[in-house]
Amino acid sequence: MNEVYLSIGTNIGEREKNLQQAVQALMEQSAVQVKRVSSIYETAAVGYTEQADFLNIAVAVESPLMAQELLEVCQSIENELGRVREMRWGPRIIDLDILLYNHENIETESLIIPHPRMYERAFVLVPLQEIAPSDEMIHEKSTRTLQAFNIEQEGVKLWKKVDSVDEFMRFESLNEFK
Ligand code: ATP
Ligand code: MG
Ligand code: MG
Repeated sequence: MNEVYLSIGTNIGEREKNLQQAVQALMEQSAVQVKRVSSIYETAAVGYTEQADFLNIAVAVESPLMAQELLEVCQSIENELGRVREMRWGPRIIDLDILLYNHENIETESLIIPHPRMYERAFVLVPLQEIAPSDEMIHEKSTRTLQAFNIEQEGVKLWKKVDSVDEFMRFESLNEFK
């Protein structure tokens, strides 16, 4: 069984609902087990800043799938939720990225793990550190980076505290839209 950490982000539409639907879609995959979901964090867009604020979470999953197969699962969920690929780093309904896959380093044309930009992104590392054992799953490199972060300055705000996967899935908004 592989231990995998994903990062999910959204800044269009019903953002919380988008996150929930993405996690729901992961749960519906027979080859994916959702173990933990972080709190929801809000961050102003970086890079292309003329866009709405993002909500981000990190999700811990277990899966027998190979990393490439998981990427395909992530992309199919993005498509299912209606992601349209326009501008890179532009507004999006949903983005599912693979951060870590066991302790492996993978580099193919379509997949780089650890995610190449995760160590510079507080909006990725702050949710991740909530659900990943600091000594184990996070690479040495990122643990050090994390300590250097001033969360306030990086603009990553706790938007909704989450204590369990069940609690995450129970939030009001999901039921309203079902
Ligand atoms: P960023 O990668 O900077 O977070 P993004 O998530 O907006 O940007 P996408 O348009 O979602 O970028 O993906 C672009 C490509 O990145 C995908 O087609 C995929 O093949 C590739 N990719 C490489 N490594 C990963 C990874 N670890 N997780 C997800 N996609 C990856
Ligand atoms: Mg991304
Ligand atoms: Mg992506």
